[in-house]
Amino acid sequence: MSTLDAVPTALIVHAHPEPHSFSTAQMTTATQALREAGYRVDVLDLYADGWAPVLDRHEFPPVDGPFKPQVEQMRAVKDATLDAAVRAHLDRLLAADLLVLSFPMWWFSLPAILKGWIDRVFVMGGVFGGDHGLFGDAALGGKRAMLLLTTGGSSESFQPGGRFGPMNEFLFHIHRGMLEFVGFQVLDPVVTYGPAHMTGQQRTAALDAVRKSVALIAR
Ligand SMILES: Cc1cc2nc3c(=O)[nH]c(=O)nc-3n(C[C@H](O)[C@H](O)[C@H](O)COP(=O)(O)OP(=O)(O)OC[C@H]3O[C@@H](n4cnc5c(N)ncnc54)[C@H](O)[C@@H]3O)c2cc1C
Repeated sequence: MSTLDAVPTALIVHAHPEPHSFSTAQMTTATQALREAGYRVDVLDLYADGWAPVLDRHEFPPVDGPFKPQVEQMRAVKDATLDAAVRAHLDRLLAADLLVLSFPMWWFSLPAILKGWIDRVFVMGGVFGGDHGLFGDAALGGKRAMLLLTTGGSSESFQPGGRFGPMNEFLFHIHRGMLEFVGFQVLDPVVTYGPAHMTGQQRTAALDAVRKSVALIAR
């Protein structure tokens, strides 16, 4: 919980290029469910906000010699020279008790814009490394995170022995390599499989299932 007040804060970072997509409807449903459960919800809509996902030397003060991204991140935290957009997003991340990453599965992973948000905002020296450790000793220890996603593939295809294989194997690099790495306790993902192949009635039921799953998590 935030130290400022007793109201927990959720940060939803959403990455879908279409405001009328199912993924965006799912994010809106999750937002409502969290608000109903008493959360203050902060939504970062990366496409709508025109987030620039590429980490490069231009967001840092000029350096002599080779550009080493994590060295510059550490220096920028220490010298308070982080890029203003990164600093603002990092502050919103640090203020959240629950992080929700909302996205359609692309190439069995995150859309590039969301991966680029992690690249730029999970700053070395800010959320891990420097004064912080890794995993349980990282800056976001004690906070929770979850993935909220849609797929093209069916639920059956993501079962053990299915055409693709177990969903959790695809999500491992995000769960362990990004979220747990910076200290989060990772919750079970909320997944809607193949919304494009559903009837209207099935989609309505799927959004209701999302609402119930998120409400359970928020308790
Ligand atoms: C680059 C790329 C890579 C991909 N890689 C993979 C992969 O590795 N694995 C995989 O499984 N899939 C993959 N896909 C497919 C992708 O995951 C799915 O297309 C996506 O997750 C479907 O979600 P959506 O929100 O985009 O669906 P949409 O097509 O936006 O929505 C589905 C339907 O729901 C309707 N809808 C919208 N809002 C509502 C509402 N409020 N109520 C009811 N219905 C609504 C829409 O009108 C639409 O008819 C990939 C796609 C791309 C573009």
